[in-house]
Order: sequence, then structure tokens, then C-alpha cells
Amino acid sequence: MSFSKKVVVVTGASAGIGQCIAISYAMEKARVVIADIDEKGGQKTLKTIVAAGGSGIFARCDVREPADIESLFGLVVKEYGRVDILINNAGVSRWCSPYDLKVEEWDDIINTNLRSVFLCSREAARIMKEGIGGSIVNIASTRALMSEPGTEAYAATKGGILALTHAMAVSLSEDNIQVNCISPGWIETGDYKRLRDVDHKQHLSGRVGKPVDIARACLYLTAPGNDFVNGENIVIDGGMTRKMIYHH
Ligand code: NAP
Repeated sequence: MSFSKKVVVVTGASAGIGQCIAISYAMEKARVVIADIDEKGGQKTLKTIVAAGGSGIFARCDVREPADIESLFGLVVKEYGRVDILINNAGVSRWCSPYDLKVEEWDDIINTNLRSVFLCSREAARIMKEGIGGSIVNIASTRALMSEPGTEAYAATKGGILALTHAMAVSLSEDNIQVNCISPGWIETGDYKRLRDVDHKQHLSGRVGKPVDIARACLYLTAPGNDFVNGENIVIDGGMTRKMIYHH
């Protein structure tokens, strides 16, 4: 895999999975754009990257705001003149009973998790098509496929991302832009050591997921030459959505 000199934009890269994805690309010699609402966390991610010999920039961007998204890609063009890879990772998870969820809360989750994926992809594609094309990876969730109570808004955004992925893969194929999607299961972004045995054992893989499990899949999907996977959703969940649960 060679990402040398590639320009990679990762949204929501100040923390959690996005941070790990950004660092992973930087360690593969890509130039990384950390796009996030959290400036402090973003500067910390950038410091980690630079200390390890990588390079990149931080760009403050609230992905709910179309103007912020336009400014983000304007900055990327000014800085690097190109975009090769976009990882649409920024997202919020908020649970609420469908009886209590306010319309403003619904709209906020939709705009953060779903509308942003469309707007960022469109801006990135406009730049990619002027060059040699590119690759987009959207981070959805296994909650696009299965549910717990009170997750309507979040599940709708993630299901929407799956549909948006194949729609955009078709529309952008003539511009040599690949669009794929990853659906993570439980990925622990907090203190992994505090997880219980039962947390690990309920997975077929015998463990809870880590951000690097998702970062590796991003590298695979966007590696030069891996362009025969297209419009696809890859579930990375330790087998949880393959497990049939009956209470005997
Ligand atoms: P996280 O730790 O909360 O990190 C998300 C990052 O996105 C944070 O830096 C957050 O900033 C930022 N962000 C939130 N709203 C934003 C906005 N409007 N504009 C720009 N940045 C914004 O989340 P994560 O667990 O790493 O999840 C990353 C992605 O994976 C999400 O799309 C999530 O739905 C998906 N996912 C996660 C899991 C899991 O188990 N962790 C499972 C399935 C799917 P603040 O901290 O300031 O809000």
C-alpha cells in the first residue's frame, strides 16, 4: 500500500475512530486533513502525527454547516491542490424514545450524520474529478441493519449512508471515484482495559473492536489497485450481526 503524498481528509478526526484513521494514514506517509468541530482535540491529533514524523493540517469544520464544508475543501485545495481520499467519519449517537424525540433533535442528528456525508462527498468529488479520481469511505454502523429501542434517528442516518454509498458510487463512477461504506459494530474508543469478560465474549471474535480495526479497513478500501470493491458495505463487528440470539 502506498499512500505517499496522497491527500486524505478525515472528518471527526479529533477523537475516537477518526483520530485513529487519521494517524494510520499519516503513518503511511499520506498528508492528512483533520476536519473536526473540536479544535483542541484536533490540534492534539496533529501534534501526535507530526511527532511521529507524519504531516497534515487541522481544519475546524462543523459538518452540519454547508458553508463550513465549502471552506474546508477550499482550504484543502489552497494547501495541497488536490484531494485523493475522503473518510466521512464524523457522527453523533444520541438515543431517545420516539415518543419524546423533538423535531429539532431529529434534524440535528440527520444533518450531522447523513447530510454531511452527501455534502462532503460532493465537494470532494468536484476536486477529485479534476485530477485522476479518488476514493470515498463512509462510516455507517451495524445499527443500519439491527436496532435497540430509542435509536430511530441514528439508525435512519446510518441506513441512509448505506443507500447514499451505492447511489454515489454509481453517479461518480464515470469520474473514477470509488465510494464504499464500513459498518462498525462495538468499537471501544474509551478505556479498553475497563471492558468486562462478558463484553468480549458476546462477540464471535472473542473481543470488542478497536479503532484500528476500522482504520485498517479504510486503508484496504482506498489502497491504490483495490478499486474492484465499489458501492459496497463492509461490516466489521466481530461477527455480532451474524449471531442469532434466542433466550432458551
Ligand atoms: P467520537 O469518539 O465521539 O468522535 C467523533 C468526533 O466527531 C469527535 O471529535 C466529535 O467532536 C466530532 N464531531 C461531532 N459532531 C461534529 C460536527 N458537527 N462536525 C465535525 N465534527 C464533529 O465517535 P466514534 O465512536 O469515534 O465514532 C466515529 C464514527 O463511527 C461515527 O460516525 C459513529 O456513528 C461511527 N460508529 C461508531 C461506533 C463505535 O462503537 N464507536 C460503532 C458504529 C459506528 P466532539 O467530541 O466535540 O463532539
